[in-house]
Amino acid sequence: MAEFDVVVIGAGHNGLTLAAYLAKAGLSVGVFEKRSIAGGGLCTEEPLFPGFLHNMHANFHLWPDFAPAWKDLQIEKFGMGYVHPSIPWSAPLSDGNHILIHNQIALTEKSFARFSKKDARTFCKLKRDLDRVFEKIMLASIYSVPKEPNPELEKELAKLPWFNKDWFGMSLFEAADDLFEDETVKTFILANIWFAGWPPDFKKMGDLVPTFLGLCNHMYLPRGGTYRLAQTLSRIVAHYDGRIFTNCDVGKILVRDGRAIGITLAKTSPLIQEQEIIARKAVVSAIDVTSTYLELVEDGILDASVKDQVKRFDYRGNSLINFHFELNQAPKFNSKDHTIDKGWSQDIGYENYGDLKEELASISKGDIPDIPRYEAGVNTLFDPSYAPPGKHIAICYREMPNTDKLNGGREKLENMMEGYADRVLEKWESYAPNMKKENVIARYIYTPYEYERKIVSMRTGSWSLGRMDYDQSGINRPIRGYADYRTPIKGLYMCSSSCHPGGSIFLAAGYNAAKVVLQDLK
Ligand SMILES: Cc1cc2nc3c(=O)[nH]c(=O)nc-3n(C[C@H](O)[C@H](O)[C@H](O)COP(=O)(O)OP(=O)(O)OC[C@H]3O[C@@H](n4cnc5c(N)ncnc54)[C@H](O)[C@@H]3O)c2cc1C
Repeated sequence: MAEFDVVVIGAGHNGLTLAAYLAKAGLSVGVFEKRSIAGGGLCTEEPLFPGFLHNMHANFHLWPDFAPAWKDLQIEKFGMGYVHPSIPWSAPLSDGNHILIHNQIALTEKSFARFSKKDARTFCKLKRDLDRVFEKIMLASIYSVPKEPNPELEKELAKLPWFNKDWFGMSLFEAADDLFEDETVKTFILANIWFAGWPPDFKKMGDLVPTFLGLCNHMYLPRGGTYRLAQTLSRIVAHYDGRIFTNCDVGKILVRDGRAIGITLAKTSPLIQEQEIIARKAVVSAIDVTSTYLELVEDGILDASVKDQVKRFDYRGNSLINFHFELNQAPKFNSKDHTIDKGWSQDIGYENYGDLKEELASISKGDIPDIPRYEAGVNTLFDPSYAPPGKHIAICYREMPNTDKLNGGREKLENMMEGYADRVLEKWESYAPNMKKENVIARYIYTPYEYERKIVSMRTGSWSLGRMDYDQSGINRPIRGYADYRTPIKGLYMCSSSCHPGGSIFLAAGYNAAKVVLQDLK
């Protein structure tokens, strides 16, 4: 019978991060992954022509420089590299103008000042003050077990005289209105926070507006493909003698006398023939909360009140349809100056509150908004290894309803998407005249129906493994009473994006949970 000190279910970046920490601490660790490759959302493919690399999921990595794992696990030394594009956020406007965030504060100030000198000054003041304390804010809020009250966080926020405690009670729209005056500036900021997972109408989360301005220059492009991070983390796990078994679909969590003692595999792989795997010290689930509590744990073990909370866990939001393009040329914008041609994340079609509100209204009704608006990223501008010499790739992410909420369902989507993709390109062409059909070598449309089958933890297309609104954040994530990565079953922990701080490649839940497991095993 195969035995490990710790068995990890799922080899997404959180499962791998946790496994690396535990193996480094000297525990024997086995990670069991359903797919044939590790990485979960860290997935790079060549769906069209060879040599054109597409990050099917996580493309924009946020703040790896703040993640304790970056240094603790020596991720760079094991092979991971990042490019730091100098213009992380940009948006062309239909009047030929544009707005952008530059890694140099003075250049952002110049861009904002075209719309409002007051907003430009507000941004600079806020950004300079935040930069002094931001790492500590991140460590207190993201890279720690959520708690309320949080004295470490409050201590850092107290150093920011302009920080308005009322923002915690406001929607993002309200906080943006409180901070800035110009609608172009506000729309630009809110659209980018939405792309990161938080729509502007989310209530009681207004503090995210200043937070994201603190973070805006910490966006990194994974060199050579997002999958490189999965390979690097896997290498670190192996370096510390951890084992990763792919093609292993975990069927059940074994519980004896109220304690998790291992797992059973629904499907074994050539790498491991045993059906039952024993965990001497802990089982950690790095997959979504619904599968963990309601599918992998046998009936009759969890209290009905816990199961009821999990049944209410909400996956709405953060569902995307991607349009992947292989191009002869990168976009050249119809702009008064061409700085924007070097923008990494390009917001296409979000110019005022009306655009944001129209999108929110359509999506909440279960429709794909008629006007194609999206976030585009042209990675080859910064890392030519994403395409053959001289060629380019582009990814356009379009927000859409979750798969279980989409009016007309999969069939309607499949019938409309080729025509929609044409309009995605036409919309781009309206800002960048060279984005014509002749510039496109090939295109691939990737829907949430596909990725929810590929990465089953992204239920109904929720890339964050659960909605990230106030009711499912911090001490409420994944369920109240168990936000500290423990579960009601002794020896069973969770560390996926269904936990704090939610979806994206933060290397956070895996890190936070590893600390908790190690503390409990002392
Ligand atoms: C279209 C799209 C675009 C995105 N863009 C970005 C972006 O630009 N930046 C960013 O930071 N994030 C982005 N994300 C989100 C990001 O990919 C996820 O939030 C992140 O990958 C979640 O990591 P995780 O480790 O928590 O879980 P996952 O990556 O979901 O990993 C879970 C793993 O568990 C495995 N698994 C599930 N069930 C079982 C089982 N029963 N047995 C064994 N294994 C199992 C899965 O196969 C998977 O490998 C995007 C996602 C999508 C879909």
